[in-house]
Amino acid sequence: MSAPPVYLDSHATTPVDPRVLERMLPFFTERFGNASSRSHPYGWEADEAVETAREQVASLVGAKLREIIFTSGATESNNLALRGVAALRGRGHIISATTEHKAILDPLRRLEREGFRVSWVPVASDGLLDPESVRAAIADDTILISIMAANNEIGVLPPVAAVGAIARERGVLFHTDAVQAAGKVPFDVEAAGVDLASFSAHKMYGPKGVGALYVRRRKPKLDLVPLMDGGGQERGLRPGTLNVPGIVGFGAAAEICHDEMPAESVRIGALRDRLLHGLRERLPNIHVNGSMTARLPQNLNTAFPDIEGEALLMGLRTLAVSSGSACTSTSVEPSHVLKAIGLSDELARASLRFGLSRFTTPAEIEYAIETVADLVGKLRELAPR
Ligand SMILES: *Cc1c(COP(=O)(O)O)cnc(C)c1O
Repeated sequence: MSAPPVYLDSHATTPVDPRVLERMLPFFTERFGNASSRSHPYGWEADEAVETAREQVASLVGAKLREIIFTSGATESNNLALRGVAALRGRGHIISATTEHKAILDPLRRLEREGFRVSWVPVASDGLLDPESVRAAIADDTILISIMAANNEIGVLPPVAAVGAIARERGVLFHTDAVQAAGKVPFDVEAAGVDLASFSAHKMYGPKGVGALYVRRRKPKLDLVPLMDGGGQERGLRPGTLNVPGIVGFGAAAEICHDEMPAESVRIGALRDRLLHGLRERLPNIHVNGSMTARLPQNLNTAFPDIEGEALLMGLRTLAVSSGSACTSTSVEPSHVLKAIGLSDELARASLRFGLSRFTTPAEIEYAIETVADLVGKLRELAPR
């Protein structure tokens, strides 16, 4: 059997940190209680573990304990935020951006079909939006702005704090999909000026199937309408028996990210820079997609002009990378994010997204440089001029 490919697709998912798994395991077996059971220690123990995790997640993002609602992941968190505000207000206008994740685009498209108006703010060629274009889009009946905190394809960090200040000034609710930012770069709900923020455990070395929504409780207190009705868990906003092991893992993952972020982001950023410089040494004419300054240290996204895009991924069997976002990789459509920053279909298809992680090694980066440079060099020789 051949060795598994080198994993450089951490925006799609990250492995569970072994330290996280270790803390989760007892909650599958001997500490299996239902956190809603009030009459015996099994329930008390599970509830206590959930509240510890809530504190760990809240502390990572500067939230109060009761402002964190556990969900099944960020897709649910986004839907709860967007549909929850829409149902609360009943009608109106929403502002978002063209480069958002599918888990924002699709719920907003459904709301559009249901009669809400949505303005899609464009981004510049560096992938960043101008906060003033958000201000210009605000109408008398604008009920919500949703702008992501870090892009999952090109890693750019939109000016959320500036958008938050505008939203606050105009009295409009502000949601951010902070999945790719949380645990990787400093993100604080107060500094960002958000009323709602979505998080996912499996993008930060926690388990899949668990996430959170931050819901502001003060100035203003937000009374979201839930997506489901049931047992009243999570202040009635997200009923259903809590995924205790998953939540414990999410909390542990948040705590580790909180503690290790300063050193980790420097180390991973240096590896990412080495990847870019190594590719540039070997290959003339590489285009970096998105700003290199306002960017996650874990991300590189490059376009390789003068090659057949399809051949690129096909030839990279020993590297696990992505040519677009994981959620669109089943279709052959070029990435909507790369198109939004002005790439041709051809150049978008000839792009690669590299997602580095806590577990990425210098040797893996050297391997990636060699492998990509060799292949792109070969494809360029083959390409008709
Ligand atoms: C992965 C991702 C999501 C979806 O999160 P799940 O927990 O997998 O549902 C949403 N938004 C962004 C930006 C993501 O990267």
